[in-house]
Amino acid sequence: MRQPLVAGNWKMNGSTASARELLAGIKAGVAGVAKCEVAVCPPYVYLPLARKELVNTRIGWGAQNLSTEAVGAFTGEISAAMLLDLGCTYVIVGHSERRTLYGEDDDRVATKFAVARAAGLKPILCVGETLEEREQGITEVVIARQLDTVIAAHGAAALAAGVIAYEPVWAIGTGQTASPEQAQEVHAFIRGRIATHDAGVANDLRILYGGSMKPDNAVELMAQPDIDGGLIGGAALVASDFLGICQAAHDSV
Ligand code: PEP
Repeated sequence: MRQPLVAGNWKMNGSTASARELLAGIKAGVAGVAKCEVAVCPPYVYLPLARKELVNTRIGWGAQNLSTEAVGAFTGEISAAMLLDLGCTYVIVGHSERRTLYGEDDDRVATKFAVARAAGLKPILCVGETLEEREQGITEVVIARQLDTVIAAHGAAALAAGVIAYEPVWAIGTGQTASPEQAQEVHAFIRGRIATHDAGVANDLRILYGGSMKPDNAVELMAQPDIDGGLIGGAALVASDFLGICQAAHDSV
């Protein structure tokens, strides 16, 4: 039985005051969604605040990115050890915004995945196709390539340390969600692809959906057999919306 995980990706949003308010709102409602694991990924600068507010709660925290390097002259970078130092459990790797806006290719994402895992962080590996790729009918080809790069470099067993998030790029922040059937089809493909390497890892691995998930579409998405939670952008910035999605995940168990 895979416990659902709902993780909030706050992206580059918020202030000390709004982060504190959002964390307080999530903390106030989390007791009602006990069957769902809950985590937030604020901007780096609010991680100390997240640790202060969330320590001794059942809400985990993590970062949105990490460096491939361990230490040294890498201006502006943040290492895995620094994230551990701030008590992070999770780190998002390969988000489509990192891939498209900051040129992170499959090899770099695979390296970040391995660096996070080696440090003891749980990487949330994002995969997903653009609208153009979906229209060309190459969704599975793209996702297979993104997954296979990690598997070829580090082995399928390495995936067991993390979580996968299927995020169709055309659905991120657009209000356009993949239908439950479209999402399930890709989630099943991802699990099946991993199962060709290691059936046990594939069976136990949580595959989250991301892309304009909201409380009102979360119930149907979470009901799909291969959807094990969500990576949430916009709706993670409003405590009641985020908790509404957690509720759907809790109720799906
Ligand atoms: C995301 O960027 O990870 C995401 C899923 O964003 P949104 O929920 O806003 O589409």
